[in-house]
Amino acid sequence: MEPIAKKWYDHLAEGKIMATKCKDCGAYTFPPLTVCRECRSRNLEWVEISGEAQLIMFSSTILPAKKFASLAPISYGLVKLKEGPCFFTKIEGVKCSNAEEIRKENESLPAPVRAEIKNVLGMNIVVFRK
Ligand SMILES: [Zn+2]
Repeated sequence: MEPIAKKWYDHLAEGKIMATKCKDCGAYTFPPLTVCRECRSRNLEWVEISGEAQLIMFSSTILPAKKFASLAPISYGLVKLKEGPCFFTKIEGVKCSNAEEIRKENESLPAPVRAEIKNVLGMNIVVFRK
């Protein structure tokens, strides 16, 4: 069987952000796993997500590890996909350089965000943009 991580990155290279959807209970699992997050079934199919989500809360780091210093400030937050799954991920398009900016942005939440594929340090990752 093809490793799940390879399949995930192959889809990103094609511009597709995928989840696994359970054929037994209908739940989406994101990021994709080999088992359903709701019922543990392995009877899954790969489906492209809408990319629509809600940003619930976020924060940022102004002092990342040295390797990631050029990316600072790095924002990350709790996102709930339209399809159901809720997870922490990288957030773009928010003001996050200091505590006051982060506090003000959080007062406007929840707010819609949209998934996009971004190449960071040579690797495709999924970020959510406000
Ligand atoms: Zn299921």
